[in-house]
Amino acid sequence: MKNKAKLVIIGAGIVGCSTAYHLAKLSWRDIVVIDRGSLFATGGSTSHAPGLVFQLNYSKTMTLLAKYSVELYSQLKTDEGQAFYTVGGIEIAYTETRWRDLKRKMGLAKSWGIEGTELLTPEQAKAKIPLLDTTGILGAFYVPTDGIAKALRAAEALANFAIASDAAKFYGDTEVLNIEVEQGQVKSVITN
Ligand SMILES: Cc1cc2nc3c(=O)[nH]c(=O)nc-3n(C[C@H](O)[C@H](O)[C@H](O)COP(=O)(O)OP(=O)(O)OC[C@H]3O[C@@H](n4cnc5c(N)ncnc54)[C@H](O)[C@@H]3O)c2cc1C
Repeated sequence: MKNKAKLVIIGAGIVGCSTAYHLAKLSWRDIVVIDRGSLFATGGSTSHAPGLVFQLNYSKTMTLLAKYSVELYSQLKTDEGQAFYTVGGIEIAYTETRWRDLKRKMGLAKSWGIEGTELLTPEQAKAKIPLLDTTGILGAFYVPTDGIAKALRAAEALANFAIASDAAKFYGDTEVLNIEVEQGQVKSVITN
């Protein structure tokens, strides 16, 4: 195992892999990524997530981050297949308050550049989700670019970019037991 590195990332879930990817894009080198689980199904949250990606959020920053994630994941694939399926997302309103809320979300989507969004009648929502029972539904908010990320494929593809750029080395089945700090600086990362 490489025993010196400029940067050590602990955890090869989506956040660790994405960090390595983005630093590689910024021309960082000499990164080590360590995970106690086997790569890339490490057993962390990323291994369990169904991967629903709804972009619209009341925070503009989070919405634009989710939009960027959709655009990035849409370009990723591994030998198992693509990392993102643009199946669209629908939120349903059963109450007047919720319906007003979805109309507000529609406005935010328009001003923040989430394209193709629509407010749907119950019948239009049912046309998209035939299993839907429309009883009591007032309307729905549809975001066609929402979708399902295959989280492990996305993580692996991001990691593969960092590896291929010679920016990072990944070590699975390696547990971090301690981090040694001297005068406020990390000096070593102790593994098993
Ligand atoms: C059941 C479930 C459903 C979810 N559904 C969704 C969803 O639909 N949409 C959505 O956006 N999000 C969803 N999430 C949330 C999403 O999965 C997490 O926000 C995301 O995966 C977190 O990524 P992470 O890289 O921070 O964490 P993790 O994937 O948990 O990665 C952390 C890694 O650190 C490693 N680690 C920890 N300690 C050590 C150590 N001492 N030494 C070495 N390695 C260590 C772990 O093994 C792990 O691999 C869901 C989560 C769960 C559990």
